[in-house]
Amino acid sequence: MSAVPTHAEIIGHLQKEVSPSRLNLFLQCRLKFWFRYIAGLIKPKTAALHVGSAVHSVLKAWNKARWKSHPLALKELYDEFSKVWAEDPVQWEPGEEDDEKKTGWRLVETYIRESKIPESLKPDAVEVSVEADLHQHGLPKLIGILDLVQSGTIVDYKTSSQTPNAEKVAHTNEVQTSSYAVLYREATGKREQGIELHHLVKLKNPKLVITTLEPMSEQQQTRLFHLMEAYVDGLDRRDFIPSPGLQCMSCEFFNECRQWS
Ligand code: SF4
Repeated sequence: MSAVPTHAEIIGHLQKEVSPSRLNLFLQCRLKFWFRYIAGLIKPKTAALHVGSAVHSVLKAWNKARWKSHPLALKELYDEFSKVWAEDPVQWEPGEEDDEKKTGWRLVETYIRESKIPESLKPDAVEVSVEADLHQHGLPKLIGILDLVQSGTIVDYKTSSQTPNAEKVAHTNEVQTSSYAVLYREATGKREQGIELHHLVKLKNPKLVITTLEPMSEQQQTRLFHLMEAYVDGLDRRDFIPSPGLQCMSCEFFNECRQWS
């Protein structure tokens, strides 16, 4: 049996490679990062997260089927949705699950109807794991998974409860979109045609909002690399202080954080 890694060993590993979600969490709140990635605290999945991951899994199945040139009919998609819904169950409040399941399925239907992606159009890549060795910049290895690459454009799926504002989502998702651009360029040797954020919005009448972004600029890549430097330096200093703010309202480590000193 292997020994449980020490915190120092975990931190050492985290400094060697980083994903956009890890980097984002570190930048959002370093104490939350510590609870999740170093202390390894596991919290029950929320309903919103469950809906988002079920929708994401079905869209992955839909894209993979297009990639194999065997597109899935709506009934097959619903069967796939029901299957992934039943995995990794959530502790539902009475009556909550049916409503959430209907919401999730309506998001999938909305996407298939409104994305207008022809079933016959073969994706370049679906859910592909990519990494970029950035040691020549003195940075950790960057790792990530691209949801979809279609005609040279990187596509990332999101679910949200509010209609996104184009400029704000471009800014708030920049760590992720720039990371994906670096990974895409490393994997293909080419510059991406562009980046699209596909937001499925959970309204009474769900809708799809597509935000189209230009290819990553040099300035954006420099910003990403500076943020990665700050991540490595912060881990070196064991800088895991809390960042109290609006994000605390939905933080799963709220109670643990209140004990911090
Ligand atoms: S409650 Fe706020 S400050 Fe505390 S860990 Fe969570 S996000 Fe950070």
